[in-house]
Amino acid sequence: MKLVILIFGTPGVGKTTLANLLAKKLQLEHIELLEVVEKYGYFLGYDVFRDALIIDEYKVTNYLEEKTKSGSSFCYSGVEIFMDPSLVNLVLVLHCEGRVLRKRLKARGYSSEKIEENIAAENLGIVEGIVKDHYPPDKVFTLDTTDATPQETLKSALNIINEVISFKI
Ligand code: ADP
Ligand code: MG
Repeated sequence: MKLVILIFGTPGVGKTTLANLLAKKLQLEHIELLEVVEKYGYFLGYDVFRDALIIDEYKVTNYLEEKTKSGSSFCYSGVEIFMDPSLVNLVLVLHCEGRVLRKRLKARGYSSEKIEENIAAENLGIVEGIVKDHYPPDKVFTLDTTDATPQETLKSALNIINEVISFKI
């Protein structure tokens, strides 16, 4: 069975960690946004103010849609990409409370300005709002990683996958 899972969330909530664990468990390819962007040059430039690449969302979306249509199973983690929802089995939005997110982003070497910016975005539920505007509610699930271990988060994600798509794990 083909399986397409998208994982979104503010930086530091645990997307890459969960995607790696899910990919291993379900034998899926894990597509990490930045790797695709850098490998194929899917960016429009560099934003010096945000200190980040300006991603060519059209090209990334197209890449993922083509992959799905050619029959690949994968889980994708990175910034919000608006694929044709009918090609997607499940969308996970991860959350993490500020008190823990602050520590995770600090460990990553983010400036305090960038840390507070991300915590504010997380508190406002920006990512979840954007994702829910695009993907149908029966495909979007949220998971809180604040006080969970990566294995606990994996278990919760597998429960959701089992329930939603009756995928045999
Ligand atoms: P993202 O890809 O969303 O930016 P990462 O997966 O890189 O986040 O995780 C950021 C940090 O949080 C890492 O240090 C990781 O060990 C920790 N972490 C990730 N997921 C969890 C989790 N479910 N529970 C506890 N800590 C986690
Ligand atoms: Mg990541």
